[in-house]
Amino acid sequence: MIVTIKPNSNPVQVKRLTKWITDLGLDVHVSEGEKSTVIGLVGDTSKVDIDLIRSLDIVEAVTRIQEPYKNANRKFHPEDSIVDVSGVKFGGRHFQTIAGPCSVETEKQVIGIAEAVKASGASMLRGGAFKPRTSPYAFQGLGIKGLEILKKAREVTGLPIVTEIMSERYIDAFADVDMVQIGARNMQNFDLLKAVGRLNKPVLLKRGLANTIEEWLMSAEYIMSEGNLNIVLCERGIRTFEPYTRNTLDLSAIPILKEKTHLPVIVDPSHASGLSRLVKPMSLASVGAGADGLIIEVHNDPTHALCDGAQSLRPEQFDDVVKAIDVMLPLVNKERDK
Ligand code: PEP
Ligand code: MN
Repeated sequence: MIVTIKPNSNPVQVKRLTKWITDLGLDVHVSEGEKSTVIGLVGDTSKVDIDLIRSLDIVEAVTRIQEPYKNANRKFHPEDSIVDVSGVKFGGRHFQTIAGPCSVETEKQVIGIAEAVKASGASMLRGGAFKPRTSPYAFQGLGIKGLEILKKAREVTGLPIVTEIMSERYIDAFADVDMVQIGARNMQNFDLLKAVGRLNKPVLLKRGLANTIEEWLMSAEYIMSEGNLNIVLCERGIRTFEPYTRNTLDLSAIPILKEKTHLPVIVDPSHASGLSRLVKPMSLASVGAGADGLIIEVHNDPTHALCDGAQSLRPEQFDDVVKAIDVMLPLVNKERDK
């Protein structure tokens, strides 16, 4: 349920209303926009007397929200949320490029790639330390040691780091990363979602391999219901019948999400296509569809990568993608932070 407050209402009366609502045992989410203030009510709203609220002087309208996601709903928060990751801002007019290897392999590799992508304009470094691999015999990632290498690369380059958490067991080890990634395979690992919801840290929430947009937003809701509102959604392709690409990039998810939620949305064209030659066209298509950023796999030596070499760009190819993005961004009224 949302309560829209009349413009220029007395803040004391608004406060009295929110206190009355919280005393009913409901959570309140107040969004003070430029045009209007909206109060979102989360919880069992059956005990709320709508007519009573409607009758108040300061209330313009009371609306029931049909969608099962509340905190993530744009109706609760009509303006874009800006998610700040150690100074790197996602949402609104900001456009960010995150780049780095699929997996952390060696310190030299990660630092070399981090320096190169930073020179091309990347604002964050990615890299997997804990890898969700289909085969138990494939490289599983360096684990804790990989996290240490990422932190070293951050120290050298100043780039904030994002890396995937696979188990709540390791949550303490992620205390010092800038952004925690929930991978596609864990999008509905509800215990893990609740655990990162209790962290005071931005979360990159990837879409599940075969999940609807609504299921994805419900996963965001799990995190938000624990108090963590700092979520960036990442469309990374879904499973379809098409075998020419690793996944099918659902570009229409971007404008749909822009309608449904206030959370920023970025795209991973690397996992969506599985092919390095498709990364540039899919990146540009994502910019055109209104994405707030991209996360791209970059490797100094893709043919010898321990994971996902076929979809990894070489640093000079990443540089070319960034230059092309910069040509497009003014058309979508966005700017890449420099
Ligand atoms: C990744 O980004 O390293 C990854 C494993 O991606 P996804 O969860 O989207 O498959
Ligand atoms: Mn990968």
